[in-house]
Amino acid sequence: MNRIYHEMGISNEIYQMGEEVLTALNDRFLQIDKIAEYNQLKVIKAMQECRVSEACLLGTTGYGYNDLGRDTLEEVYSKVFKTEAALVRPQITCGTHALALALMSNLRPGDELLSPVGKPYDTLEEVIGIRDSKGSLKEYGVSYAQVDLLPDGSFDYEGIKNAINNKTKLVTIQRSKGYQTRPTLSVARIGELISFVKSIKPDVICMVDNCYGEFVETMEPSEVGADMVVGSLIKNPGGGLAPIGGYIAGKKECVENAAYRLTSPGLGKEVGASLGVLPQFYQGLFIAPTVTASALKGAIFAANLYERLGYHVVPNSTESRHDIIQAITLKSKEALLAFCKGIQQAAPVDGYLTPEGWDMPGYDSQVIMAAGAFISGSSIELSADGPLKEPYNVYFQGGLTWYHAKFGILKSLQELKNAGII
Ligand SMILES: *Cc1c(COP(=O)(O)O)cnc(C)c1O
Repeated sequence: MNRIYHEMGISNEIYQMGEEVLTALNDRFLQIDKIAEYNQLKVIKAMQECRVSEACLLGTTGYGYNDLGRDTLEEVYSKVFKTEAALVRPQITCGTHALALALMSNLRPGDELLSPVGKPYDTLEEVIGIRDSKGSLKEYGVSYAQVDLLPDGSFDYEGIKNAINNKTKLVTIQRSKGYQTRPTLSVARIGELISFVKSIKPDVICMVDNCYGEFVETMEPSEVGADMVVGSLIKNPGGGLAPIGGYIAGKKECVENAAYRLTSPGLGKEVGASLGVLPQFYQGLFIAPTVTASALKGAIFAANLYERLGYHVVPNSTESRHDIIQAITLKSKEALLAFCKGIQQAAPVDGYLTPEGWDMPGYDSQVIMAAGAFISGSSIELSADGPLKEPYNVYFQGGLTWYHAKFGILKSLQELKNAGII
């Protein structure tokens, strides 16, 4: 083992450091494996109950009428998420699109959208109209209200109660912290929040942005009262195999509204050819529980390794996990560059490249990104990014296999060592 790691550029010292950290993580890894085991059976059960057959793996072209594989997959998703219906389509281009679709199809002019958990994910700012954009909800006369979390991360129940009014139609709850420092919400906490909201206004639609959260726990937010859960197939539920796509699972009426908006009034779910992607959609969902477990192990390994070296990590080494994102404060530009270089050099694709900062549209500083992915931009694959500014946080996630995640993290550490930073 030492030799192959040595051949891959990992010194004995770094390798041993990793092994030491790992011996203390046995129990946590066992717990993650148990969750994966449960979720694996949950997915197989859903596929069997829906009688997934070889014929389901064939796609359609053109209008896509009577697409058995597409319709059955949507049934499988609704069983996995325990909802009445689901929309799972390659025509949903990404997570932002899925969220925009869920919002725009269920809100009407004069309605108000409320986020009771603070500012939503960056890309939603333009969807909502927090930052002006063509076609935003604001442009269509949908207003927006926001209640921030309290400083200790708890819900501001009083503020939420005051914010709910007769216009409030939909409440959006982001499960993952995304690229913020607030804690990620557990499914149990989301359930508490939804119960509270519904106790004030029973008919309000509660939507959960489920990105990065799928299969991290044995339950999904749709099991604790969410009317819609929404996410991207190039994150957890695509298992790294889905080449595109998004999903909305939830109440029949909510999903139907989304289908009519995605295609056209009158057409809804009946059209939308699946082309050739169904095998990857099915197989990706099938392996998603173990892929998510690999990514989680990588995140916990990194938190423990870097915390031991004195870095501030969020979540910390012992906290419970509700999504797959790990943040590390690297404190210098050199450290951030070295970290990302290491992640890149561990990649099976484009591993010979060195990432550099670039002026990404919409950001006020340069951003560096490390990714050597089979699916472009897929963040269930091992990837890291961060803005090149104080305090030089890196956010990293993914790893289709635990061993790749481990190698990537060791490689990042090796690069910090080679640069004389640790
Ligand atoms: C990734 C993500 C999104 C947006 O998904 P894209 O596929 O990048 O458009 C939205 N919300 C959260 C919490 C995310 O992590």
